[in-house]
Amino acid sequence: MIEIAAVNKWYGAGFQVLKNCSLSVRRGEVVVVCGPSGSGKSTLIKCVNGLEPVNDGTIKVDGAAVTDPSTKLPSLRAKVGMVFQHFELFPHMNVLENLCIGQEKVLKRGASEARAKAQALLERVGMTAHSHKYPGQLSGGQQQRIAIARALAMDPIAMLFDEPTSALDPEMITEVLDVMVSLAQEGMTMMVVTHEMGFARKVADRVVFMDRGEIVEDTQKQRFFEDPQSDRAKLFLSKIL
Ligand code: ATP
Ligand code: MG
Repeated sequence: MIEIAAVNKWYGAGFQVLKNCSLSVRRGEVVVVCGPSGSGKSTLIKCVNGLEPVNDGTIKVDGAAVTDPSTKLPSLRAKVGMVFQHFELFPHMNVLENLCIGQEKVLKRGASEARAKAQALLERVGMTAHSHKYPGQLSGGQQQRIAIARALAMDPIAMLFDEPTSALDPEMITEVLDVMVSLAQEGMTMMVVTHEMGFARKVADRVVFMDRGEIVEDTQKQRFFEDPQSDRAKLFLSKIL
């Protein structure tokens, strides 16, 4: 579903942020990406839906080459949901409008169909009671659940998450992780940058560990936690577990 092959990327001339990165996420798989701050996790995930260009190597999503200039990135992005650390809802639209706008403008769904889909998703993320609130009237955890629902409204073939809980107070983290866990259990293809190792243990198929722009480990989760191969991963785990 997501094929990253020998990707190199520089920011400017002097700084190589991704070094020969290769990684694949098969249909229905959940891959957790972790690693120290600055290791290139956000950059890698942004490259997957073309928010950042790569300098060489290829990235394919569902067979379409993101890295090929002739690929239409807007239609690709409509198929791959992305949820960021900061919720990025449209502040001047209420919850329902946030969930309908992409369906109507990009997928050309009619208003009533979009609304029905939005209502179903609100129920799913436990936010039915808040449909007429504006983002500023919601807690961080609620905003993040709406951000997930908004991405799901587009019927994505895969979901990308970049530290979706790291800006949240502890008591709100669980409510967001619960939504992500159920999504994973339903078979959504997911690439998730997170340091929530409880989430990784529960639903990840593989854990990818990055350091200084390199993919240092890409292993079954059990092996990653019980017997990490590199010293860098051992050090990282000793700090966060
Ligand atoms: P964190 O855990 O802190 O989110 P990360 O692993 O997501 O870190 P990136 O955000 O991908 O790391 O950044 C990797 C490196 O690239 C960092 O050294 C960062 O300063 C640098 N960087 C990120 N974005 C840019 C940019 N637009 N221009 C130049 N350098 C950048
Ligand atoms: Mg990051």
